[in-house]
Amino acid sequence: MEKQTIQIGDFTLGLEEVAETLDAIRAGRIDAVVVEGSQGQEVFTFRDASHPFRLLVEAMSEGAVLTTIDGDICYQNPCFSALTGIEVAVAQGHPLSDLVTNETQRDLALLLERARTGPAARGNVDLLGAGGRSVPVQLSVNRAHLADVEVFCVVVTDLTESRRQEDLYRVARQEIEARDRLFTVAAHELRNPLSVLDLQTQLLTRLLASSSAEEPAEPLERASRIVARIGEQGKRLAVLVGKLLDVGMIGAGRLQLAREECDLADIVRAVLERARESLERTGSVLTAELRPARGAWDRVRLEQVVDNLVSNAAKYGQGRPIHVFVDGNAKVARFGVEDSGGGIPAEARERIFRPYERMAGAAGLPGLGIGLYVTAEIVKAHGGSIRVEGRPQGGSSFVVELPAHDAS
Ligand code: ADP
Repeated sequence: MEKQTIQIGDFTLGLEEVAETLDAIRAGRIDAVVVEGSQGQEVFTFRDASHPFRLLVEAMSEGAVLTTIDGDICYQNPCFSALTGIEVAVAQGHPLSDLVTNETQRDLALLLERARTGPAARGNVDLLGAGGRSVPVQLSVNRAHLADVEVFCVVVTDLTESRRQEDLYRVARQEIEARDRLFTVAAHELRNPLSVLDLQTQLLTRLLASSSAEEPAEPLERASRIVARIGEQGKRLAVLVGKLLDVGMIGAGRLQLAREECDLADIVRAVLERARESLERTGSVLTAELRPARGAWDRVRLEQVVDNLVSNAAKYGQGRPIHVFVDGNAKVARFGVEDSGGGIPAEARERIFRPYERMAGAAGLPGLGIGLYVTAEIVKAHGGSIRVEGRPQGGSSFVVELPAHDAS
């Protein structure tokens, strides 16, 4: 028994030695081998003219594969092994297609067919990479002769990094385009109150010039109406500028919360009171069910959240009823706004929380497409969540959930 174990051990060691030697020959680290034959020792040298090229291919940071004309692997360099995570000895003799994803099998077959019948061919496939991930690569396939046998020399370029760069570039471009759109919309939005301001100031100047000390009463009354309108437009401008500043602050990661103990129902009540007049103007009837829900939140920022959602319900609610509710328990508070307007299609329900996103129907209505983005960021900073759902009878239901206390 002991003798058998020793023999098997010797055999395994011998095999490992052979494998190591083969690897070293393949890698070009061995110049020659000496073989003990019947005629004495014979020297076999590997240092022929192709030796430096072998070293180059082995050291390449691109994959290199030699296949038969049918696509079976005869040789692969270390870089290719690293891409696929498959050892040289395992891959040899297997079809290259075994290492390519199902989705790109056809691309590989077409590429090899082109290389078989024409000059060098180039195309993209996805390799089955180490750990199950797919690796996008470009294959450059050349036909060549090894002695009398036709083979394919395939250079494999990993496209992962360039794809990542392309994705980053695409996202950056989209953001730049969105920002350009924002500038245009913001310019329009700012210009409206500015022209009203301009007009009202001209009126006021004319009124003051024509007023005389003997007859001040009527002009004074008109003047105070004009001043009120100027004040309104000034506030509108301040809100717009505030929104733009918020986007800048969130983008720079500088949104900070000033938490204090408060009741969400009180916050909502205060905002609804302020919005009552403008809500009435839209014709929407407002109902509210506000149950106490206490927590440590940034009161001013939550007012902004409530104001944004209620103003949107009024803006997009087509004059139909709006319902607002607050409820909660010791752990989490819930605030919701339900309108009966045109609603938001399911595929747009994530997108509208991104900056500058507006649906086509919003084009005629004032807005910058940043209210929901800022809202979602404020909710996120509180550790909460916001979602929008469609309502069976039409319209949208926005629901905000806030943990009562700062979990971090
Ligand atoms: P804005 O209202 O300034 O366009 P928001 O970020 O507040 O920007 O909203 C983004 C978009 O989401 C709006 O342009 C509109 O298309 C859509 N939207 C928001 N709230 C509603 C709602 N209650 N009903 C229908 N569409 C809405």
